[in-house]
Order: sequence, then C-alpha cells, then structure tokens
Amino acid sequence: MIKENLLEIKKSIPENVTLVAVSKTKPIEDLQEAYAAGQRIFGENKIQEMVDKYDALPKDIQWHMIGHLQSNKVKYMAHFVDLIHGVDKFSTLKEINKQAKKHDKVINCLLQVKIAKEDTKFGFSFDEIDEILASEELVGLKNIKVAGFMGMATFTDNKQQLEEEFSSLKTFFDLKKTQVDLDNCELQTLSMGMSGDYTLAIENGSNMVRVGSSIFGQRNYNA
Ligand SMILES: *Cc1c(COP(=O)(O)O)cnc(C)c1O
Repeated sequence: MIKENLLEIKKSIPENVTLVAVSKTKPIEDLQEAYAAGQRIFGENKIQEMVDKYDALPKDIQWHMIGHLQSNKVKYMAHFVDLIHGVDKFSTLKEINKQAKKHDKVINCLLQVKIAKEDTKFGFSFDEIDEILASEELVGLKNIKVAGFMGMATFTDNKQQLEEEFSSLKTFFDLKKTQVDLDNCELQTLSMGMSGDYTLAIENGSNMVRVGSSIFGQRNYNA
C-alpha cells in the first residue's frame, strides 16, 4: 500500500510543495518500498534510528531530522543530514554550526516556531525568532543556513483554529522574507502539515509537508 499511498498524496499536493515521508519507527523494507516508488526525502525523529537507516539505504536519499534535538547527538548526523527542522534553541544552532564546520559543510536548518495553543509543543515565539534574526552572534555562524521555519499546529479537529495557527506563521514568514538580509539566512521553506492537516496547511501557505501515517500506516506507538 505504501506506493499507492505515496502516489495518491503526490497527486493531491501542488508541485511547489515538498513531501517529506516521515518513516520514524518503520522498518527498512518500508523505506525501500517508498524509495522504489520514487520517494527521496525521508524524515526521522531519532538521530540513532536515522543513522542506522542512512547506513542501510541508497545514498541519494535526503535525510531530514524532524524531531526534538539533543545537542550532544548532532555530531552523529552532521556528515549526512540534509535539513534539520526542529531547531528550538540558539545553543542548538551553535552546536550544529560547530559540527558542520568539522565536515566543512553548511547544514540547512529550520527554526521551529510555536504556533500551537497547547503547551506541549516546542518552539520559539515570534519575538524570540526576531531576536535571533537580529543577533550579532547569528552572523558568525557560517556553517549553518537558516532556510525557513517549521510549525506544528494544535492536535485538534477545529478547522478554524488550525487555519489561524498556520496562517499566523505564513504571515510571519512572508514578513521576515522581506526583512532579513543575511548571508546565512535564505528564508524559503515553510514546513507545516502532517497526515491529519497537510491539506489545510498547504492552503494556508505551507511548502513542505511532513507526512507519516498516511504513507506508511499507523505507528504502533506514539512517536
Ligand atoms: C511524526 C511526525 C510527523 C508525521 O506525523 P503523521 O501524523 O504520522 O503524518 C510530522 N512531523 C513531526 C515533527 C513528527 O514528529
């Protein structure tokens, strides 16, 4: 079913929207099936699991880290990770920069913004993002690139609330795009939307969706 699910989703999203296939907890065979169907971007939320899968799978896959980051583990993925979605501390950005430098590369990062009303979700406030984007220290981080923002909406069926949360980040993103002029910031990616809400997220400005269970089926634990 993985292939059918993928093709179905690909058909339903506009061309300018990037689909990240969230494969956390799923076995290698499931990723191979998605790969055979043409998928090249996979998202994982645990560094060790992503490293194991990276080692086992073709090297033209782009690996996205979508989970909450532990700074001390950044070094294990620095040599191959393509995009880190969930940066929610400035110190993490500095650690990513340090590890990227060791490999003489630039690592793309998204700053996670808290848009959900729940207090379980990680992320910066809009004000905190403003502070970071204005800080002298950011300018010195030459081995990272801030490529945009990531947001997770409240876990709810309330369509209006979801729309408000998504569009608030889209508005902020568009504003920052016009204001920020730094060598290591190129705001182009807005990562919003998961299996339950990606259509709504796209309607409200997302250009990158992170879809897991709608491709691979339900996970057997809450990850
Ligand atoms: C697990 C996860 C997803 C995918 O969730 P689904 O509901 O299975 O599509 C997306 N984003 C993040 C940050 C996740 O942890």
